[in-house]
Amino acid sequence: MATELRLPTHTIVRPDKDTFLDEDNPFEAMMLRFDQAAELLDLEPGLYRVLRNPEKQIIVSIPVMMDNGEVEVFTGYRVLYNTSRGPAKGGIRFDLQVTLEEVKALAAWMTWKCAVVNIPFGGSKGGVVCDPHTMSASELERLTRRYTAGIINVLGPDSDVPAPDVNTNERVMAWIMDTYSMHVGHTTTAVVTGKPVEMGGSLGRREATGRGCMIVVKEALAHLGMPVKGTTVAVQGFGNVGSVAAQLLHAEGCKVVAIGDRSVSYYDPNGIDVNAAIAYVSKRRHLDGYGKGEVISGADLLTLDVDVLVPAALENVITTKNAGDIRARIICEGANGPTSAAADSILEENGVFVVPDILANAGGVTVSYFEWVQDRGGYFWTEQLVNDRLRDIMVHSFQAVLSLSKQHKVNMRTAAYMLAISRVATVHRLRGVYA
Ligand code: GLU
Repeated sequence: MATELRLPTHTIVRPDKDTFLDEDNPFEAMMLRFDQAAELLDLEPGLYRVLRNPEKQIIVSIPVMMDNGEVEVFTGYRVLYNTSRGPAKGGIRFDLQVTLEEVKALAAWMTWKCAVVNIPFGGSKGGVVCDPHTMSASELERLTRRYTAGIINVLGPDSDVPAPDVNTNERVMAWIMDTYSMHVGHTTTAVVTGKPVEMGGSLGRREATGRGCMIVVKEALAHLGMPVKGTTVAVQGFGNVGSVAAQLLHAEGCKVVAIGDRSVSYYDPNGIDVNAAIAYVSKRRHLDGYGKGEVISGADLLTLDVDVLVPAALENVITTKNAGDIRARIICEGANGPTSAAADSILEENGVFVVPDILANAGGVTVSYFEWVQDRGGYFWTEQLVNDRLRDIMVHSFQAVLSLSKQHKVNMRTAAYMLAISRVATVHRLRGVYA
């Protein structure tokens, strides 16, 4: 793969904090990394312009009858960033922080992520500005169905395929699948992934993002000559990604010494009982009150003296404010965009090996691809087969990015962007510009 990329002919312009109007703007963060990689690839100006712009951006107002009889209006977004390599693919999040800029960045990241692991999808993302924790199940169902109706013209197994993301889950995917199927007049399982297994979901999908993190952490440890057994790990975020990553790393022999979610963080130098913490959260929905270990702040969790740090929550938790204090040797980005672009160079100067989000958390969309394939074939795989194929793709992708990073003497993030952009660019060149 590496040989098809042109050698750099320019000096790399490294983003630093003075480059930024707003370090926290995720779209700007994505674009800075894109620009760096595009420059190294010597991307032709026309293609550069095409790839800097989302293909389609949808904003919908979503009226919802609340349980108290009042009608509330929510705002929802769906952005299709690029569909040159296949149907758009990407999750839907329900969160008060959702903005169009964020959804655009996340949709672009999905494009690069699918290209890094070489699955035949483009990238998209959706979001609804709401606080799902304060809404009843029936309010969430009405919100989901009305949002789906609002974006229905872009959805479809061949055009745009949603999946779970922050604060959405299998149940939400079931409502989307049902709403879409009612509109088109027949059951269409392949319109979403991350569905319940009983209705066309894939075995292993729920664990896939965390499993992918575990796989790349082991690859990174091997690359750096570090053992797996006894390696200390801190995990920020204890949802679908963080809890499974912690559980699987623990099962591999790592010592998970810190976990945290939005309610509390715990530190225990002797190792957290990850399975007990997961059992607690499955009953209480958050870690608060779990009680075993020393309570620390979420900020302190990030700067603990550990071998591996897994930020698996939201964007921009590692910025110029704390990047210099990070003591982990490896960062595995379970979340999308946890590191600001300005923080990248600080981490690099300090010798932190970063497995970037578009590689580290690609396990989820990889098994989404397997789910879509299974739905379309109507033939379902064993969990072992899913996990084996996931491992093959994650290991192969990690090694492809690593060899590119060595070849071009760039960090893993830049190498991952270079690999992704080159694959998307190749398809654009082959397809040409329709006029
Ligand atoms: N929301 C996940 C992500 O950010 C999964 C997307 C998908 O499976 O389509 O990668």
